Amino acid sequence: MIQAPHIDGLNQILPEDPLLMMGAGPVPIPGPVAAANGIVINHLGETMARIIDQVKRMGRYIFQTESPWLMGVAGPGSAAMEMAVTNLVWPDTRVLCVCNGFFSQRLAEMARRAGGEVERLLIDEGCRADVSRIEDILQTFEPEVMTIVQGETSNTTHNKDLAAIGALAQRYNCRLIVDAVCTLSTMELNMDDWGIDVVITGGQKGLSSIPGVSLVAFSEHAWQRILQRPVPIPHWTLDAQLATRFWHEASYHYTAPVSGLLALHEAMRLVCEETLERRFQRHRKSSLALQGGIEALGLSLYVPTEARLNSVVGIALPEGLDSKAVCSHISRHFRVEIAGSFGPPIVRIGQMGEQCRVHNLFRTLHALGSTFNALGYPVDLPAGMAALENRLQALSAEE
Ligand SMILES: *Cc1c(COP(=O)(O)O)cnc(C)c1O
Repeated sequence: MIQAPHIDGLNQILPEDPLLMMGAGPVPIPGPVAAANGIVINHLGETMARIIDQVKRMGRYIFQTESPWLMGVAGPGSAAMEMAVTNLVWPDTRVLCVCNGFFSQRLAEMARRAGGEVERLLIDEGCRADVSRIEDILQTFEPEVMTIVQGETSNTTHNKDLAAIGALAQRYNCRLIVDAVCTLSTMELNMDDWGIDVVITGGQKGLSSIPGVSLVAFSEHAWQRILQRPVPIPHWTLDAQLATRFWHEASYHYTAPVSGLLALHEAMRLVCEETLERRFQRHRKSSLALQGGIEALGLSLYVPTEARLNSVVGIALPEGLDSKAVCSHISRHFRVEIAGSFGPPIVRIGQMGEQCRVHNLFRTLHALGSTFNALGYPVDLPAGMAALENRLQALSAEE
């Protein structure tokens, strides 16, 4: 018989003071979200039905869509990406994948695995997708589906022309899938007005909920395409038509992640309470002030303003300094977690949801500057802190 192992309790493993989560997700969660995550209820029945109804109503506001085809998926943002891609793509579907980096390449890989004939439009590092190049490919390749990210979290670029790209996609009868895992509720995204067919989001970034429960919304056009699939989707769990059993008929598809859904409900309720206008404003102000503070330290931002993402800020590392050294020092000495990268020589500070609070900015910028100093790459810490305060005041005055 195998003996029971000796296991440390979480209190022996986790730090006494929680780390401040300022990386690229998961982000800090508000109290009501944390409390909801500790509750289990029946996954079917009247209470759940009422909660799901509210999640869908809040989703229409947050995604800015009248479409009824909004649903959740038990799984990470990647599960929602896979649900979007594999429901709309089948063998030989022509798919244009606009690739800015790691996550947009993941969408392309999913489309390839679904049997799609994938054309990748590779965007230069630090640039945003170019509308006219997309139009050229829409004309020559005639894709039936296109994928793009709003914010490429991995290298902190922002495809700022989504409205124009959506209009083009509609004109060429191409179903546009937008990955807004990082950006939803941090900046404008108007699913219906911009002609977007599918919007994907996760819980643990812009929405400030827990990881593991994600949302996806399909337009009526996208839904028609799903209904006309020549072959059933091979993934039973990700089948959007089966998912309507739970999301529209209050019946059983698979056991819903009830606690995570309650947490998401609370996170979305807080977005509605704050309103999107005020939430976007808070994110913009917080991120721009942080960016100003970082530059005043004497550091450089990785992406030029034309393509710079505000939801995650990328900081270029000087020659010889490794992102792991920065992340581990700032975590150990200041209890602030920031993110390294999947390739480019940067560290990243998140500006999603609860990360965009003034007290978090001061603590993080101070910890960052002190870390660079300690590692032998001197920065002007007083200038950085002063610039942060000055930018915050100037941006508040604009409001
Ligand atoms: C984080 C992220 C994902 C993946 O989300 P997971 O929950 O890690 O699967 C996908 N796309 C973007 C833009 C992201 O920021």
